[in-house]
Amino acid sequence: MAGSEKNSMENGRLRLAVQKSGRLSDDTFELLRQCGLKVSQSRTRLYARIEELPIDLLLVRDDDIPELVSNGASDLGIVGGNVFEEERLSREVPLDAEIVMPLGFSKCRLCIAMPKSKAYAQASDLAGKRIATSYPAITQAWLHENGVTDAKTVNMSGAHEIAPRLGVAEAICDIVSTGATLESNGLGVAETVYFSEALLIGPTAKLSPQKKATLDALTGRLQGVLRSRNAKYVMMNAPRDAVDAISAVLPGADSPTVLELAGQTGKVAIHAVCSEDVLWDHLAELKSLGASAILVLDIDKMLT
Ligand code: ATP
Ligand code: ZN
Repeated sequence: MAGSEKNSMENGRLRLAVQKSGRLSDDTFELLRQCGLKVSQSRTRLYARIEELPIDLLLVRDDDIPELVSNGASDLGIVGGNVFEEERLSREVPLDAEIVMPLGFSKCRLCIAMPKSKAYAQASDLAGKRIATSYPAITQAWLHENGVTDAKTVNMSGAHEIAPRLGVAEAICDIVSTGATLESNGLGVAETVYFSEALLIGPTAKLSPQKKATLDALTGRLQGVLRSRNAKYVMMNAPRDAVDAISAVLPGADSPTVLELAGQTGKVAIHAVCSEDVLWDHLAELKSLGASAILVLDIDKMLT
C-alpha cells in the first residue's frame, strides 16, 4: 500500500472492506451511490475514499472479508451471507464479527442437487452419498440438522456440476440462482440448505466513539435506501365514505393522507406509502371500493 494511502487509513476513518470486482461489487457501489456516498478512487486500487463520510473502502476478494473484519484490519465488511456463514461455521477460533444488517441484494440459494435420473424424496436419501461443494461447513451443518450422519462432503472450488459425471460425488451443494446451469448438466435441486443475501458485517467489540458515529450515519443512510426499495407512493381519488375501507386494504401504509379535492364534496384524494406487492394484490379491491385515477410513484429514499 502506498504511504499516503496508509496514513489516510490511520486517522480515525472507518474502514469498510468490499469486493473489488465480482457479483457483489456493482450492487455494493450502487447501494453506496444511492446513499449519497461517492467513491473517489478508481476501483483498480486496493483502497478508495468516500468524501461525504469519513469512510475508506478496502477493495479485496470476498472470501477475505470475514477475516479482515475479525482481525481488525477492517472495521466493517460487505459480504455474501454464504461466505460469512461458511467462515463462521468452519473456524476453530470463533470469528470476531457479527451481522450489522442484511442488505437485500445478491440474493441466492445454496442448494443440494442430484442427477435428475436419481429419485430424491427426503434427506435420508443422501445417506452414504458424497456431496461436492465449496461450502462443506454449511452442508455438513444441514446434514447434521436433518439427521443424515453418513454422507461425506468432497471439497471442490468450482465446476461442481460436473462432479457426478466424473464419478467424484453423487450430489453437489452449490449456489443456484436460475437453475439453468444445473439443468444443462442434468441436475435438479433436491434441497435448499441456505438462503443468502449480502450482509453488512462488523466486529463484536465496540468501535471508538468517532467510528461508532460514522457507522450510525452509514446505517441510517442504508436503512433509508433499503426501506424505499419495495415501497411506492400511491395516490388515488376515492369516495369520502370509502376512506376507512381503502386504508384497511393498504396495510403496509402508515396512516394515509386524506386531501380535499377542489370542487368535489363526495370525493377525496388519498396518498399513502405502501409495498408494491400489497398494491398489486389489492388493486381489484381498491377499484371495487371506488378508487380511481390511481398513480404509483417510485420513492428515492425514506428517511425517518
Ligand atoms: P472473488 O474474486 O472476490 O473471490 P468470487 O468469484 O468468489 O469472487 P462471485 O462469483 O463474484 O465470487 O460471487 C460473490 C458473491 O455473490 C457470492 O458469494 C454470493 O454471495 C453472491 N452470488 C453468487 N452467485 C450469485 C448469483 N447467481 N446471484 C446472486 N448472487 C450471487
Ligand atoms: Zn471469492
